[in-house]
Order: sequence, then structure tokens, then C-alpha cells
Amino acid sequence: MSSIRIEHLSKYFGRSKGIDDADLHIQQGEFFTLLGPSGCGKTTLLRTLAGFYRQEEGHIYFDDRLMDDEPVYNRDTGMVFQNYAIFPHLSVFENVAYGLKARKVKKPELERRVMEALELVELGAYRDRQPSEMSGGQQQRIALARAIVIHPGLLLMDEPLSNLDAKLRLKMRAEIRALQQKLSITTVYVTHDQEEALAVSDRIAVLSGGRIQQIGRPHEIYLNPANRIVADFIGTSNFLPVRVAGYDEASCKAALELGGQRFTVRLDKPYEGEAIVSIRPEHIRLDPQPEDGQAVLGGTVSGLTFLGEKVEYIVDTGAVGKVQVHAYQTAYDSLHRPGQAVSLSLDLACAVIFDGQGREAVK
Ligand code: ATP
Repeated sequence: MSSIRIEHLSKYFGRSKGIDDADLHIQQGEFFTLLGPSGCGKTTLLRTLAGFYRQEEGHIYFDDRLMDDEPVYNRDTGMVFQNYAIFPHLSVFENVAYGLKARKVKKPELERRVMEALELVELGAYRDRQPSEMSGGQQQRIALARAIVIHPGLLLMDEPLSNLDAKLRLKMRAEIRALQQKLSITTVYVTHDQEEALAVSDRIAVLSGGRIQQIGRPHEIYLNPANRIVADFIGTSNFLPVRVAGYDEASCKAALELGGQRFTVRLDKPYEGEAIVSIRPEHIRLDPQPEDGQAVLGGTVSGLTFLGEKVEYIVDTGAVGKVQVHAYQTAYDSLHRPGQAVSLSLDLACAVIFDGQGREAVK
């Protein structure tokens, strides 16, 4: 299994950059996800790794081998695509055998390896079926078996679950992760689905506009987004305009002015001036008994959505605009109604503070 090193890689389409100066190191056996909105460059980076595109700048190494000018067939990668790309006129067995035949693997070994791959994805009993007789989830498993049967050093997957319904996606993502761990195969996985990325990945790179915004483990990216773009894309956040004043170097503390009140916060970096507090809806409580370090704001309920396990409220605070609040285990009879005055308790210890442009976190 390979490790991957990407150094200052840029890929242009005409004058625009599909990937802009990407730098990253993927460890052997790691499940690494490229995550970001449509058009951010995920597929471009994956296709460049596979050798379908040649980057204009930078280098790609698999282990210590420079891959820049290696053709696709020399890169030892297995690929799974969004549309599966399985051959409709070939049986399940023949689909999976395809890559081995192309490599001129002899019949007894070919037979053994195809069946091993089919057993791994639990399709051993379906070897003679035609793909058209298989469900979407089964077709995706054929594609997976076809990618792993060649024992690639690197498995590349581009939105492999996006054609499946919601329930099957959950099942298949757990299966893919389990299989990846069983084979401990270095995997680069592309998705725009942040929940999927959080669920399956060892580490995630969040991309936007062709640039890597942050690389980290799922909880690091969720709890400590590096900038506003990441906080906005991963989960739901409220972005509240505030001022930071009176930073004290000795204690690393400063005063946060929020909604006409002042709160003391500890910063990770010296900072004063306009700032943005990023706070998740689950870190705001309605009708609270505030605890130490929590900010209290008044507001009026302007909307609510009942979602069974939780209620999503929109509360208009006036002072810092509209705020989204998630309330759990709410009895239906005690829901707050639109127009009702409420007070909000903000757990500032869980909040992230960005500079005024949202470029970097200062707490
Ligand atoms: P999606 O989730 O929609 O597939 P993505 O994150 O995979 O999006 P890419 O397909 O990598 O995004 O595209 C990145 C940027 O490069 C986009 O602005 C896209 O329009 C552009 N781009 C991609 N492929 C080409 C191409 N062959 N020619 C010109 N521009 C391209």
C-alpha cells in the first residue's frame, strides 16, 4: 500500500485553476477524504492523482516514487466512480475479472482472486448474474470488487454512493469503511456530503475554490474549523458580528463585545478589532439558567421547524441578527411559538472566534 505526497500542485483549465497549490501527505493505509461543495476541485485532484490529468505545477509521489509522468496504468490504482462504470454486457464475474485479464493473470489465479473479491463484498453467490439483474447497492459492490481485485496500492473513489437512496448510502458507507480497514488499503475518497466524510474518514481535506482550506481529523474539523468557509460548510453555524478589545498578553484574555454586553474570553492568538463568533445551534439554549462564561441574549421566535428528535428555532435577537437554535427532547406541548419572547444562553466556551474577514480562527 502506498503513501501519497502532493507538493504545491496546481492544475489549470485555461486560465482558471481547478486545483490551486495543494500540499498534502496521505499516510499508508489511511482513509482520506476530499470534501467540499460542487466545483471546489475534488474530482480534479482525484483525477490528477489517478493520472487522467497532468498537473501544470507541483509533484505527486507514491511512497518515494515520482508519479508526475507515469501513465494511468502504471500508477497501481483502483478506481470506483459515481456511475459505477460497470460493463452491462458482462456478467458479475467477468466485470470483476476484467482488470486481471488485462494484466494477463492466468486462469486458476484469476478465478481465485475474483471469487475472493466477490466474497469480500458479499456477492459470491451472484457471480453469473448480469448487472441489470442487480440492485443499485449491489452494482456499487461490483464496482468495488473490480477496483480491489487487482490489489491496488491505492483506492480512489469519486462520490461512489451518490446514486444510492439515503438508507442504502448509510449501509454502503459502513461497508466501504469496514472493507478498507480489513484490507488497510490507502484510500482517497471524494464526497460533497459532510456527514459521510465525518463518518468514514481518518482525515479530511476541506476544499473551496480549488484551495485546501483545512486538513484534519473529523472531530478537529468540526470542533476547530480553521476559517469561516470550513465552519460554514461543516455542520451548521451561526456567525455573529462582535468586537474583541483589551487583549492581555499575560493571561491571553480579551473582552468580547456581543449584543451590547461584554464577556471575557481566552484567545489562542493576540487579536483586537472586528470579529465573528461562530457558534453551533446545539451550543445555544432557550430559556436558560445561564452558567459561568455563557452569554445571554433576548430575542423573539421568528420560526420553528419540528424534526422529531429536535426542533430548529430561528430567533431574532435584534442585537446580532437571526440565530438558529436546536432544542432536543422537546415536548410538543411546550414548544415556543412564533412571536414569543425568549432568552438565549450562548456557550462561548464552545464557540470559535474568527477575525473580521473570517480568514482565520483566533480562538
Ligand atoms: P462536483 O462535486 O460538482 O463534481 P468538484 O469539486 O469535483 O465538483 P471539479 O470537477 O474538480 O469540482 O471542478 C473544479 C473546477 O474546475 C470547476 O470550476 C470546474 O468547472 C472546472 N473544471 C473541471 N473540469 C474541467 C474541464 N475538463 N475543463 C474546464 N474546466 C473544468
